[in-house]
Amino acid sequence: MSNIQYDEQGGIVSLENQLEGHCKSRKKEKKHYSFLERLMIKKSRRLNYLLDGDGKYKCRQERLPNVIRIGPTNRCTAQCFYCPREHIHEAGSGYMDFEMYEEIVTWAEKNKVKAISFALFGEPLLHPRFFEMLELAREKGMALRVSSNAIIMDKEKANKLLDMNLEAMEMSLDGYVSHEFREGKRVDKHERVKENIEYLLSEAKKRKSKTVFNVHFVDAGNVSKKNKKRFVKYWSEKLNGLEHITSFYYEPHNWAGTRADVGAKINWLDKLLKKFELKKPCVYIKGINIDWNGNVVICTNDPTKEAVIGNIKQAKLEDIYNGETRMKYLSAHETGNFRELNCRKCNVNSYWPLLFIKKRIVNYFSK
Ligand code: SF4
Repeated sequence: MSNIQYDEQGGIVSLENQLEGHCKSRKKEKKHYSFLERLMIKKSRRLNYLLDGDGKYKCRQERLPNVIRIGPTNRCTAQCFYCPREHIHEAGSGYMDFEMYEEIVTWAEKNKVKAISFALFGEPLLHPRFFEMLELAREKGMALRVSSNAIIMDKEKANKLLDMNLEAMEMSLDGYVSHEFREGKRVDKHERVKENIEYLLSEAKKRKSKTVFNVHFVDAGNVSKKNKKRFVKYWSEKLNGLEHITSFYYEPHNWAGTRADVGAKINWLDKLLKKFELKKPCVYIKGINIDWNGNVVICTNDPTKEAVIGNIKQAKLEDIYNGETRMKYLSAHETGNFRELNCRKCNVNSYWPLLFIKKRIVNYFSK
């Protein structure tokens, strides 16, 4: 990894040894899905919700997104070792203008967008007008989803978040003990984050909150096997009585091939189980993603310039959404021919059936 220096709000002030960690394309670049992949795509309920009977994205007909993901800032309060921040900050860092946000929400209301998700690259709680952003979308009747590392989610912010009746709240807590967290997030804030999340969940219970909570970590090798089980048990108990997601840890993805090194630390068994890989159409190109500077990016997982499909200061959102570049992505994911896109190196659109079965078994016996 490169040597990076940050200012106090996670902006990069010095970046040496630019942009390392690229992975190679898949060994054999295919022009279409294999028989097994096509079978999986046909049978998968999750993909059937995305695709029509002919295997085409349903969003082609809809022509407007149901969800807009917004990055109020690309700055962050952590320095996760698995984050491709050299790419995220390559064109600078900053905060979304509130006027720009208002225009997005006006557009979203006019076009009947159902949800706004604050989950793109940076820590949304850092935006000085974040709660006004939430309030504005809430007034317009949109469901709200927030993703945070909870480092600066003090009691006041936790209560404000609960006041917003969020549809979903996702929090990443990279480890069961402090040294694991430090290794994952590269900041020494484990106890504080744990307390913040516990406070939020206990208040949520008192208020009989309907928010779906998700407390998780990236399973990138910094959490021991024993602590993985402890994490699941501990947070299952804390979440008991609230709506919550039961996948407590996620395999690291490679950020469209920019962070090939991240998966290298997983244990030998998981590595072996990952050999059996199936590719599938990606769910992340269904909605639309707008970064702090107005850049529209194809998904939340490709931090490179190639993922920018337009900018809302220069073109209408509907034209970007239905434009040629996004259509190229849809076609590639419908056919399985990813050769011209970073998706060929990305593993977000990968499915590892054996790893999935193992995880379900481990989680079941950890409770
Ligand atoms: S497969 Fe392509 S569209 Fe999907 S997350 Fe990866 S880079 Fe983004």
